[in-house]
Amino acid sequence: MSAREGTVRTAVITGASSGIGAATARALHAAGYRVALLARRGDRIDALAAELGDDAIAIVADVTDRDSLVAAAQRVQDELGGADVLVNNAGIMLLGPFASERREDYRAMVETNLLGAITATEVFLGQLEDGGGDLVNLSSVAGRTARATNGVYAATKWGMNGWSESLRQALLPDVRVTLIEPGVVDTELPTHITDDATRQAVQESYDAARVKPEEIAEVIAFVLSRPRHLVINEVLLRPADQA
Ligand code: NDP
Repeated sequence: MSAREGTVRTAVITGASSGIGAATARALHAAGYRVALLARRGDRIDALAAELGDDAIAIVADVTDRDSLVAAAQRVQDELGGADVLVNNAGIMLLGPFASERREDYRAMVETNLLGAITATEVFLGQLEDGGGDLVNLSSVAGRTARATNGVYAATKWGMNGWSESLRQALLPDVRVTLIEPGVVDTELPTHITDDATRQAVQESYDAARVKPEEIAEVIAFVLSRPRHLVINEVLLRPADQA
């Protein structure tokens, strides 16, 4: 039996201010977890923490800023007793044709989606290893299938997949590693696309999206609820009509 088994578990969710991250925070809180909500938009996570109540704290943190993650980890240790679960969810999807004009988009995606997740993990790893932890990495169908306009986004998600398999081997059995690979989910993800034509085209498909973030959150909560001798390492899930 692990040191913390039978006690209330604490989940840290990056990118908890909207979409899948906010829904995951709600689902895990409803399942009895204490939750630490990390994101840059403090007003959003403050409102969510207030909605959830005493077992939720909001921490402004940017996954591209290691110091802010170190400070967040200290608060999680002091106020919630340490993280049992880290959900690496923060991400941006700046799609568009490959071109030099978008090199800042490429840097931002690599620094947020891939390096941000790696940094959050190395910062929280000591807490996760203390008593049996879980790491949930948000990848994507784009981590399995690259397309002409998603090259660098896909590269970050393919990177997430390879890194997660390495971590799975390195951290077993104390930390379970799970990769979640959704298709189109109805969130604000496409609104940040800088290429106008691409944003409009992608937004149209998101406007028609029927899969809601709560449905992804439900899967994450299910994965985490398995007995500790079992781990669901990978979940690939698409809208039933996604090609
Ligand atoms: P949202 O845009 O709704 O959420 C993204 C979250 O990431 C926000 O909470 C945002 O918060 C946070 N974020 C972005 N940059 C940073 C940063 N530098 N530091 C901290 N937080 C950051 O989109 P989704 O919910 O859809 O996306 C969540 C994850 O799911 C992403 O990794 C995405 O790639 C993945 N995904 C989404 C799919 C979809 O179709 N929606 C499909 C497959 C995967 P803030 O701006 O406040 O910092």
